[in-house]
Amino acid sequence: TQPLLRVEDLSKHYEVARQGLLEEKKYVRAVNGVSFDISEGETFGLVGESGCGKSTTGQMLVHLVQHTGGQIHFAGRDITNLSKHEMKALRKELQIVFQDPYSSLNPKKKIGWLLEEPLIIHQIGSKAERQKIISEVLEQVGLDQSHLQRYPHELSGGQKQRVGIASALVLNPKFIVIDEAVSALDVSVQSQILNLLKELQRVRGLTYLFISHDLNVVQYMSDRVGVMYLGKMVEIFDVEAGGGPLHPYTRALFSSIPQVGSRQKERIVLSGDVPNPISPPPGCAFHPRCPLAVEQCRHSTPVLRSQEAGHYVSCHLYEEEAVHENRSHIGSA
Ligand code: SF4
Ligand code: MG
Repeated sequence: TQPLLRVEDLSKHYEVARQGLLEEKKYVRAVNGVSFDISEGETFGLVGESGCGKSTTGQMLVHLVQHTGGQIHFAGRDITNLSKHEMKALRKELQIVFQDPYSSLNPKKKIGWLLEEPLIIHQIGSKAERQKIISEVLEQVGLDQSHLQRYPHELSGGQKQRVGIASALVLNPKFIVIDEAVSALDVSVQSQILNLLKELQRVRGLTYLFISHDLNVVQYMSDRVGVMYLGKMVEIFDVEAGGGPLHPYTRALFSSIPQVGSRQKERIVLSGDVPNPISPPPGCAFHPRCPLAVEQCRHSTPVLRSQEAGHYVSCHLYEEEAVHENRSHIGSA
């Protein structure tokens, strides 16, 4: 089956100011040739340290940030470049829920207005029909009519995020980018919101791109996980598949939390900070921090390759392993 969303070689490069005329142009490659697809009804998690490009990737998918390269296909249609008019129509299909329910809600508007506004903008329904849509969505997110007359500051953090989710849902989208949507909430409220998102996905057949720096949360929510480092996708793995991640960076990240899969045994602590994205290290950009780096890693850039069914890794170690495996197969035949 065709994926609902397909991203190919997506990039966002920013030019940074030059110090002098003679200096070369420099770019921040915030997102640097990222490819993945998401099936209908799936939750694809996106993880990585702050500044790895995961939010920028999510924002490019819903056209809040303009890409500088690559392609985006949605429901079999090329949505890479759209007119304003086409963009507006697409908003009904593709929504985003942000981290901070405090700042994304207009403090001067009552909740009832915040939920009706998208419907008015998109000229959906009569007043009565809009109220019906809002009532249904309110109930689905665990709020009731009494909340419509309130202002955002009169709600708790969890209630505000429920409003944020409701305002994404009123247009009946197929796909939602969820960017750190529970990071600002208390842990007990976080789990309520996560379970609500799962329930909404089941009931409404939603597809999610779930962005978070919190690996526990991503592991809980996602069917597959994509791991970004300095603007690149370094691994894509299936959470349920059992083997767990392979890339040294992913293994280090996930070694700090209860196990995904069976491969991870001991805690791996990463040394050093994420390098400056204006001048990333040559070869594998992770090599200065990688406990398993070999000479080749300093000058040769690995590419994301299929390792096993549904599992993609960008690391020289596994290229070699693949070669050795093939040899031993030949040898034992
Ligand atoms: Fe480490 Fe080399 Fe693999 Fe990069 S390519 S993750 S430096 S082993
Ligand atoms: Mg972010």
